[in-house]
Amino acid sequence: MGTTVEVVWRKGVDEGQTEAVRSAMDRMESLASRMSLYSPQSELAEVNAAAGKAPVKVSDELLDIIGKSLEISRRTGGAFDPTVGSLEAVWGDIQRAGGGALPEEGAVQDALGRVGYQHVRTDPGTKTVFLEKEGMRLDLGGIAKGYIVDQGMAWLNGQGVQAALINAGGDIRVSGSPEDPAWRIGLQDPIEEGNLLGVFLVREAAVVTSGTYERYFETAGGRFPHILNPKTGRPVEGLLSATVIAEESFLADALATALMVRGRKEGISLLRSFPSAKGVLVEQDGTIWVEEGLKDVLKLDLLPPRNTLRFYSSAQVLMEKTGEERSAVGY
Ligand code: ADP
Ligand code: MG
Repeated sequence: MGTTVEVVWRKGVDEGQTEAVRSAMDRMESLASRMSLYSPQSELAEVNAAAGKAPVKVSDELLDIIGKSLEISRRTGGAFDPTVGSLEAVWGDIQRAGGGALPEEGAVQDALGRVGYQHVRTDPGTKTVFLEKEGMRLDLGGIAKGYIVDQGMAWLNGQGVQAALINAGGDIRVSGSPEDPAWRIGLQDPIEEGNLLGVFLVREAAVVTSGTYERYFETAGGRFPHILNPKTGRPVEGLLSATVIAEESFLADALATALMVRGRKEGISLLRSFPSAKGVLVEQDGTIWVEEGLKDVLKLDLLPPRNTLRFYSSAQVLMEKTGEERSAVGY
C-alpha cells in the first residue's frame, strides 16, 4: 500500500489470535497489490492499460471497490472521482522528475478531458471493467486504504478477534464491545505536526483524515496537495484537513477526500446527504468546524488557543431553508 499498517488487538482467551492477525495482514497486503496504481502487474494497471480498447475481467474485490467508488462519485456530484488518474500523472510526473515547473495549461486540459466517472462501465455479470476513453486512468488512492482496512477488520472479526484497531497510515477503524474501554484516536493538528487537536473516544467506528500537509506534489512553483479538483484539474485549495467519522472506513476515506475538494461550506452541505458520516474540518485560519453530534465522542480539551472552535449542525442548515425538511434526515 506504500503505507505501514498497524493492528492492535485486545488479548482474548483464544490462542489463535496472533495467527488471525497475521492472516489479516497478508490479506490486506494482497488486496493492496491488486489496487496499486504503480505496479504494472496489478489488476488496476491492466484495467488502465486497456482504456478505450476492451473490458478487463477483474476480481470480486476490484469490482466491488470500483462500484463503491462510482457510487460515491455520483453522491458527491463528482467531487470524489477515481478517474483523476490522468491528472495525477500530469502533476505526479513533475514530482517524480524531481520537481520541475508547473504543468502547462494544455497538459492539464488534455488530462481533464479524460476525467469523468461516468465513463467507467462495470458489468457484474461478466465481472469486467471498461474505461471508455483512451488514456483514462483509474486511481483508487482516495478510497483503497479505507476499503482495505474494512476488509481487514471483517476478516479479524470473523476469526474471533473482536476488539481490534487497524491503522493504515492514518485511516483507522476500531471495533469492540460496549463493555470494552473506548479506543482513543488522536485528531492530528494540520498546522503543527505531532500536535493533537483532540481525541476521539469510540468503540466501533472508522476515523479518516485527508489533509494538505502530509502528501503533496513538489514543483518549482511550490507545494501542492495531492488531492485534485476533478472540475479544475488543479490541486485543491481551502481546507487544511477534513476528518470523517463513519461506520465504514471506505466511506470515511472517500468522503474526507471529497470534502477537501468541496471546501468548508459546500462540504458541510454535502455531509447532509450522508447522515451516518460526521465531519471535522480545519480551515487555514485554524477555525475548526465540528459536527454537533460529535460533542460526546470528540474530546477537545487539548485544543490550542489559536484554534477557534465552531460547531455545525446539518439540521440547522436545513432549518434555515425549510422547516419541514428537518425530519426528513432523521434529526
Ligand atoms: P491520503 O492518501 O493521504 O489518505 P486521500 O485519502 O485524500 O489522502 O487520497 C488522496 C489520493 O486520492 C491521491 O493521492 C489520489 O490518488 C487520489 N485522489 C486525488 N484527488 C482525488 C479526487 N478528487 N477523487 C478521488 N480520488 C482522488
Ligand atoms: Mg481518501
